[in-house]
Amino acid sequence: MPQPATEDLRKCIHCGMCLEACPTYRVSGLETESPRGRIHLMQALLDGRPATPDLTIHLDRCLACRACETACPSAVPYGRLIESTRAMLQERKPANPWLLWLFGHPSRLRRAFGLLSLYERSGLRRLLHRTGVASRLPQRLRMAEGLVPQMRPRFSRDSGGVVMPRAPMRARVGLLTGCVMRESFGDVHDAAAALLSRAGVEVVIPPRQVCCGALHAHGGDLQGARELARTNVMAFSEAAVSAIVVDSAGCGAHMKHYGELLADDPEWADRANLLADKTKDLSEILLPLAGQLRFGPLPLRVTYQDPCHLAHAQGIRAEPRALLRLIPGLELVEMREADRCCGSAGIYNLTQPEFSERVLDLKMADVVATRPQAVVTANPGCMLQLRYGLERVGLDVPVYHLAEVLESSALAGDELRR
Ligand code: SF4
Ligand code: SF4
Repeated sequence: MPQPATEDLRKCIHCGMCLEACPTYRVSGLETESPRGRIHLMQALLDGRPATPDLTIHLDRCLACRACETACPSAVPYGRLIESTRAMLQERKPANPWLLWLFGHPSRLRRAFGLLSLYERSGLRRLLHRTGVASRLPQRLRMAEGLVPQMRPRFSRDSGGVVMPRAPMRARVGLLTGCVMRESFGDVHDAAAALLSRAGVEVVIPPRQVCCGALHAHGGDLQGARELARTNVMAFSEAAVSAIVVDSAGCGAHMKHYGELLADDPEWADRANLLADKTKDLSEILLPLAGQLRFGPLPLRVTYQDPCHLAHAQGIRAEPRALLRLIPGLELVEMREADRCCGSAGIYNLTQPEFSERVLDLKMADVVATRPQAVVTANPGCMLQLRYGLERVGLDVPVYHLAEVLESSALAGDELRR
């Protein structure tokens, strides 16, 4: 049975240095909503304390943002602890099985997004907003409605294929299409593939790949996460690529742990480790190749929000900023604590709307203070949450994915050369 490892729990020296880094502690001031408090609760569960709703609510309210790992002087692997604790609780009483059911199957997700598209295209959404009905919905519904993705163009290689390099070939990589990204951010994938192609990279999109399984793992469904990981290991092994590029921070962070996830499966462990080693965030791949890209001017004042699973889980902070600074005319204004979670955290904004909104409001104060003309980030969940936050504070500025901004600048560069 999965459970938090005693040696991981023992690493905590109860110093409290993680408290101020923890968004849920910051908005509540409660020890039970802090990393240290949650570690204490995990130990209590191991010691036999019953998993009552009064206890598990504090674990459910954890964003799994891993900011506490960055702050911790004792290298407590908090991400692993919360994942295994949730897996243990999930075995006793499955939580949100409908969401995991939905995200595990591309066809179900596609039908769900089809309904959302109908909701938007029919004009119903506009009507609800114009009449003020949307803002009067109960909190959970209001938040879910506010997070409905805008319908954007589908990925042009939706059913797989290859994007050929537009410069002398330097590498052949695979691209993860994912689940939410695939259904709702196809134009971001197109921008990412175009940038790679400009830099001389051949981009393979294996048709048999599936959702990375991050939402399953974070929700405690390790079995479901392992099944999806095996399918992806198979799909990308067949593609014979030197790297797997991911333009969604949450998916990249999870795929970098496929080795750990399948460590006890002798048939898959080695291949899973290989895939994990090959997994790279788009910014990691692009920065060393940036000399091949010619950026045109983009006069825009932007602020960059670090996705938690890029900054805290993958340690990637400098690369996206370095890429943005290559764009002529773009002004990057740092917000306070750019790597503090925005409250999106997978499906947290749907399952914990109250805490999610409190964490978001804290974030929006820092965004607004930069007086941005656009907000840039690198994760679909953060994009939706930030857009909802901007609407909440009445700031009418767009939220872009890093790939979109870079590709717009590269297109501007093309125009200049014509
Ligand atoms: S993962 Fe994030 S929300 Fe959870 S305890 Fe750590 S800092 Fe707090
Ligand atoms: S998790 Fe780390 S920072 Fe937080 S109380 Fe424990 S040892 Fe200190």
